[in-house]
Amino acid sequence: MLDLTPTAIIDREALRINPCKTCQPVGALYAALGVHRCMPHSHGSQGCASYHRTFLSRHFKEPAIASTSSFTEGASVFGGGSNIKTSVKNIFDIYKPDIIAVHTTCLSETIGDDMNAYIQDMDIPEGKYVVHANTPSYVGSHINGYFNMMAGFIRYLSKKSGKPNGKAGIFPGFVNPGDMRELKRMAKAIGASITLFPDASQVMDAPMTGHYSMYPKGGTTIAEIENMGDCERVFALGELTSEEPANALLRKCGVAYTLLPLPIGIVNTDEFLMKLSRWAKNEVPYELEEERGQLIDVILDSHFYLSDRSVAVFGDPDMVLGLTSLVLEMGMIPKYVITGTPGDSFTRKAEELFKRYGRSDCKAKAAADLFELHQWIKNDGVDLLLGSSYGKQIAKAEDIPFVRAGFPILDRYVHPYFPTLGYTGALRFVEKITNALMDRQDEDSADEDLEVVM
Ligand code: SF4
Repeated sequence: MLDLTPTAIIDREALRINPCKTCQPVGALYAALGVHRCMPHSHGSQGCASYHRTFLSRHFKEPAIASTSSFTEGASVFGGGSNIKTSVKNIFDIYKPDIIAVHTTCLSETIGDDMNAYIQDMDIPEGKYVVHANTPSYVGSHINGYFNMMAGFIRYLSKKSGKPNGKAGIFPGFVNPGDMRELKRMAKAIGASITLFPDASQVMDAPMTGHYSMYPKGGTTIAEIENMGDCERVFALGELTSEEPANALLRKCGVAYTLLPLPIGIVNTDEFLMKLSRWAKNEVPYELEEERGQLIDVILDSHFYLSDRSVAVFGDPDMVLGLTSLVLEMGMIPKYVITGTPGDSFTRKAEELFKRYGRSDCKAKAAADLFELHQWIKNDGVDLLLGSSYGKQIAKAEDIPFVRAGFPILDRYVHPYFPTLGYTGALRFVEKITNALMDRQDEDSADEDLEVVM
């Protein structure tokens, strides 16, 4: 008989419950917001665009602009060709962007709209651009949408002139504006000349000026994306996020790339800085060495609270792998490691990390969901949860300390301004994790004191 008690683990192949990911266009929209004077455009119904914009605004606490093809029944039957042509004309007339980045949705993909043909057939004003990416949401996750949109920009815009520009391209992975600022700061400290693409800093963390600006100062410019074809090398950060656009640039312009994990924690940040400094032919400056030393110092200081404490890590694949590497460096046990994004290489990479640190008591799963994680935790608990806001219900139900990390974080403020990457990002997470565990210890000892008094 089928056991339906809460702790029974049912192996589900088709159904996902609380899936630990969102749809492709959310990622495509975020990638497009990292391009200067770009209007992201959702080729589908108004409901899709509203959802994608709201989702990003709730994480960043900033307006996420986007237009829509506003599909109705007619478009569903006859295709969205006339909608996109009218949309593009109106957007250039009214909102005056330099570029429109079109991403498709479930509906337009199901109809089979041929975006290449539609764009070739458009009257695009002189000096303006329209690019597109196919982002069917029933495949992959917002991470696929993010890298598909990056590859779309590259395919349409990047060119090789034959004259190297002395720059390195850096693809930051799906990270916050605070991380993008941190990457630029580290590159500047090393003296490396870079193009960061995309770059949502000064867009999704723009200051309050008293005036609404539809196109804030930040974002990679069209000229910079065109010029990426002349970069000497690309550092593609986030092995499961940045490989696709790096391959697109290699195929189109022959730019070689170095694929690296997101620089989260000591080992990954060391690797990124060493590779970048070797390329720039400069030493890593003392400023960064000092930060590294401070990070090691605080990990040593707090190891009484961290050592052998178990943690469940969940979220986007590269973020989860980076955080898993960090918690292993901290002496913790990443007992459960899951992502909602499909891909066997996630599990393989997580298992390599477990092996490197001699952990045979941890398990990893891709295309997993939070219902399953909750079942694992019910059967064998953990000391800490580390992941997106969607872990809140598990934390509450099982009374487990919870540190928010990754995407989305909907129920906290300010976090997109601070890095997770680099030594400073790791320092911040050592503080958050240690304090969450110390708070729990204080609560437990207060309960014991109460029992003694009673
Ligand atoms: S219909 Fe598809 S594209 Fe639109 S919001 Fe839903 S999953 Fe995303």
